[in-house]
Amino acid sequence: MNFRNYPMVSKIVFGRSSFDQLGEIIEPKRINTKAPFIFLVDDVFKGNVWLTSRIPLAYEDEILYISADEEPKTSQVDELVEKIILTHKDRPSGIIGIGGGTLLDLSKAVAIMLTNEGEAKDYQGWDLVKRPAIYHVGIPTISGTGAEVSRTTVLTGPNKKLGINSDYTPFDQVILDPELTKDVPKDQWFYTGMDCYIHCIESLYGTYLNAFSQSYGEKALDLCKEVFLDDKISKEESEDKLMMASWHGGMSISFSQVGIAHALSYGLSFVLGTKHGIGNCIVFDHLEEFYPEGVKLFKQMKAKHNINLPQGLCSDLEDYEFSAMIDMALALEPLWENALGKHWKQKITKDKLKSLYQKM
Ligand code: NAD
Ligand code: ZN
Repeated sequence: MNFRNYPMVSKIVFGRSSFDQLGEIIEPKRINTKAPFIFLVDDVFKGNVWLTSRIPLAYEDEILYISADEEPKTSQVDELVEKIILTHKDRPSGIIGIGGGTLLDLSKAVAIMLTNEGEAKDYQGWDLVKRPAIYHVGIPTISGTGAEVSRTTVLTGPNKKLGINSDYTPFDQVILDPELTKDVPKDQWFYTGMDCYIHCIESLYGTYLNAFSQSYGEKALDLCKEVFLDDKISKEESEDKLMMASWHGGMSISFSQVGIAHALSYGLSFVLGTKHGIGNCIVFDHLEEFYPEGVKLFKQMKAKHNINLPQGLCSDLEDYEFSAMIDMALALEPLWENALGKHWKQKITKDKLKSLYQKM
């Protein structure tokens, strides 16, 4: 038996307004005045003085605003790296990502590609990164993905959607300030929050479960139930708890794996560009056969918050599009094995997946 030896986020701050400590946290990491900190910030915050005036800029530090309308691409990472190298003489002192999973993943990937040769697509997979990334900090502004704690950065490349999974991927520093999530629109709050809920269900009902992942998964699931089903919870308490649920859910899947909803959602995303949170919801809604209790509770939460998921996403798809989706989903073997055990191939056929996609 070869037990996995995982890296963790080295340092973490938690608390409302802890974002104000960013300056004192990063300053000792400045290599010299010519080596800037590059802040990759979700462009939803452009012009939002409440947040941007607190970004501690000095010397040649720079803010790059980036849209989260589309999920990160390997080509986008390469372009950002090139831009940073061309603009600044010295290699940056650090990359600071401020935003949701999209910005956090981009920041991790840029930090890796600043020290590794070639293109981001060359590193999609497991343990392909050769050199440590530069110092990188993650500051989530929406809760659920667990990208703040995970060992991966999910990227869509020319041939596949797959993470750069490596010991160098996790952040060196994370700042968890739940107040930063206060203006997340309701639907998006639900979709990204459900990503966390689905992480818990897929982990807890998977065959890879062990006491380590279970302890985190159970805690995260309890927190999700409080956040999404308890009428008495205050907005602040709900923000605090969902941020911790995201962290624990991410820890849980790090030591186990996600499952069928994620496999199918990756297929949707690869062919239709459907975003992770909403894609997971659309898929999970049809998985009662595999996760009966989890889907039942999901439907309750969906009804409680008046969420209407898009329907008929796959109704006009051509056969080649179904095939691409199905092949993408089936390529994620560990996810299927976690969900259904070693003999999963006997239980899942391409026709089965097509019939599931046709319902969405
Ligand atoms: P996101 O980063 O895509 O953002 C969703 C929307 O919310 C965007 O429109 C964004 O502008 C907006 N937003 C974010 N913070 C806001 C705020 N405070 N106020 C108002 N609007 C705000 O959403 P996400 O669901 O966090 O991330 C999805 C991405 O995360 C996907 O690319 C997915 O592949 C990735 N992901 C990564 C991991 C990992 O372990 N690395 C795990 C799960 C998902
Ligand atoms: Zn997810």
